Amino acid sequence: MKKIAILGCTGSIGTQTLEVVRENRDIEVLGLAAGGNVELLEKQAREFRPQLIAVWTEEKAKELRAKLRDTDIRVTYGMEGLIEVSTMYDVEILVTAIVGMIGIRPTVEAIKAGKDIALANKETLVTAGHIIMPLAKENHVSILPVDSEHSAIFQSLRGNETKAVSKILLTASGGPFRGKREEDLLDIRVEDALRHPNWSMGQKITIDSSTMVNKGLEVIEAKWLFGVDVDRVQVVVQPQSIIHSMVEYVDGAIMAELGTPDMKLPIQYALYYPERRNLPGERLDFWSLGRLDFEKPDMDTFYGLKLAYDAGRAGGTLPTVFNAANELAVKQFLNREIKYLEIIEIIEDCMKAHKNVDDPTLEQILDTEKATYERIESRR
Ligand code: NAD
Ligand code: MG
Repeated sequence: MKKIAILGCTGSIGTQTLEVVRENRDIEVLGLAAGGNVELLEKQAREFRPQLIAVWTEEKAKELRAKLRDTDIRVTYGMEGLIEVSTMYDVEILVTAIVGMIGIRPTVEAIKAGKDIALANKETLVTAGHIIMPLAKENHVSILPVDSEHSAIFQSLRGNETKAVSKILLTASGGPFRGKREEDLLDIRVEDALRHPNWSMGQKITIDSSTMVNKGLEVIEAKWLFGVDVDRVQVVVQPQSIIHSMVEYVDGAIMAELGTPDMKLPIQYALYYPERRNLPGERLDFWSLGRLDFEKPDMDTFYGLKLAYDAGRAGGTLPTVFNAANELAVKQFLNREIKYLEIIEIIEDCMKAHKNVDDPTLEQILDTEKATYERIESRR
């Protein structure tokens, strides 16, 4: 039995991870963590019987404890709780499916405790990749990508020499507003931005996909996972989301991973790597598919992607500013406090005002996050 813990078990990736566990029957879930959906947590607890569950607040912990009174499952809370779940003694793989850079500390502690990381939580790598990757190496820990593009790249690298890679071709669907101009985006409502053409995901990443900020975060994520400069990561719009990403080699050969869009594939691949398991689901049928389309990304309209390249190129604390500004701006947009185009304006404003710090410590990253939030709050 493989032993895992999941941060963000009630979310889109978290629940699909539990589906993979349910279908395979040879994975034991020892720990779960989520914000506070106690109804779903109770259900998951009764089905998967973890030893420990962490929620975010003490109040939610009390609620969940009351619900699980008849079990011996322990309930904890807060950052301490997240870290406790991440470092449980018998856990072999930690699935980081929490949203946002709140995942940094639990991920760092899990690596120090020798856990392999099935990483969905890209914000952690974007902001602290220079700490996470060397730490993983030092502790002989694998970082297994769950993000579909990065899983595709990881798969396309197998059996080839890393030094023969010439570039990474990161595919993008283009999101719900592909082909639109800035003037078309002035009055975008929350409902419009939450309608993704190909994937059903959590709210934050769905908004990020619509602004192309998600692709920008993924460019920086690829930089850390695969050790390439951001300028060797080329974004290719592939609206059907059939090609999940590609690697071009020095001889011109291109390796790709294709399939119907289903996050359970990269999740299962990360959990069982290097084994490939049967996965029920629809198979790609090229006869009915007929064609695949390709486009260059529109970085003038969706200039959040351009800002991500700037941040990724500069490194230091600038990717944290990019990410933290986006996290808060998206929250404000979802709360209908700002307009759609302000998300990117806020990111740009925070980046312009920032004095970059090279090779920041964890503390400096968290300070940068705080300072970025304060700047945005002071706009109101
Ligand atoms: P989601 O919003 O559906 O779920 C987020 C999870 O994190 C929930 O379980 C929530 O309870 C938990 N959480 C949030 N704040 C927390 C806190 N303070 N303490 C404890 N738990 C907390 O998000 P998602 O779409 O599943 O995305 C999760 C991560 O995976 C993100 O980093 C996203 O970028 C990445 N990702 C998602 C997809 C996808 O298909 N959904 C694809 C690729 C990458
Ligand atoms: Mg992705």
